[in-house]
Amino acid sequence: MVSQDLLDILRCPHCVRNGPQAGLLTLVKGTWLVCQDCQRKYPIRDDIPVMLIEEGDKWVQTAEENLPVPPPG
Ligand SMILES: [Zn+2]
Repeated sequence: MVSQDLLDILRCPHCVRNGPQAGLLTLVKGTWLVCQDCQRKYPIRDDIPVMLIEEGDKWVQTAEENLPVPPPG
């Protein structure tokens, strides 16, 4: 389980440059972090959020309900 403290400080690496309130993430299905601004989706693998823009790019067109659990490695 990823700690709430960590989730509170994590931001989408693509959007965070737009300001401190940009790139806020929502935890989906316990294993995905979805950017509220750009809809990039970052998997949490082995309790470690993979905050890479290229990783988020892979899932930007995937609806939240279609995200695989667990995220593919
Ligand atoms: Zn974003």
